[in-house]
Amino acid sequence: MDSAKKKTALVTGASRGIGRAIALALATNGCHLLVNYRSRRDDAQETLNLIEQLGGTGELCPFDVAAAAACEQAVAKILQSHARIDVLINNAGIRQDALLVFMKPEQWAQVIATNLNSFFNVTQPVAKQMALQRSGRIVSVTSTAGQTGVEGQANYSAAKAGVIGASKSLARELAKRGVTVNVLAPGFIETEMTKDLPREQLLKQIPAGRFGKPEEVAAAAVFLCSDSAAYINGAVININGGVYT
Ligand code: NDP
Repeated sequence: MDSAKKKTALVTGASRGIGRAIALALATNGCHLLVNYRSRRDDAQETLNLIEQLGGTGELCPFDVAAAAACEQAVAKILQSHARIDVLINNAGIRQDALLVFMKPEQWAQVIATNLNSFFNVTQPVAKQMALQRSGRIVSVTSTAGQTGVEGQANYSAAKAGVIGASKSLARELAKRGVTVNVLAPGFIETEMTKDLPREQLLKQIPAGRFGKPEEVAAAAVFLCSDSAAYINGAVININGGVYT
């Protein structure tokens, strides 16, 4: 990050995986980190410890991204202490896979609530503030699934495609206010979320011949949040080892 002053960055789902890697990378690039999580306090605390070991600063910021009122309260609380939010990373997500014909209504609803409604719940109050500040960076972590569809992931693919569409609209709405809104679309990344997938079978579909690392997603997030990326808006950046999208 290029500006001299420390920026305030909220990363949802920063207790592990991609969110943790993004939080660490932003912290080492001059951001004060608000480390969001829902249930795993110890993991979130470990993220904070790692930030501090790297010489950065941050604080825990627990709330459920699927709960609209909790998101609004959390953003209001952040603004009381920090007065501004410079970076929002919408990263928290879950998967609950099933073929559509067997999918339970709650599997559809929970994945849409956590992966898509969360975009509205968190982004709306933050975007209002960024519009007032006339600056800000919003980056959302979607997925290749939202671009191509994946068998067994109609709920997840719908949510991720929805975030891509919403981000492109918001990018147009906020462009004149100095706020950029972009999307990362990772393929298969080594995290807890992909632990149970049939690895050998999937590797055959990935031209790079390996899963990606959370840090490889984080590097793109840091760039999109930098001053150098001011003219990148409404973009979807694939981080997928060449998987056909
Ligand atoms: P993990 O399962 O490793 O981590 C998920 C994170 O989201 C945790 O920090 C978890 O915190 C948090 N979270 C889940 N639900 C909520 C909620 N309701 N409110 C707040 N936080 C929540 O996942 P990944 O790191 O792999 O995935 C991160 C993002 O990247 C997700 O959006 C995922 O869809 C996306 N993605 C992942 C890919 C991969 O291959 N791994 C590929 C493409 C996209 P807690 O446990 O405390 O609830």
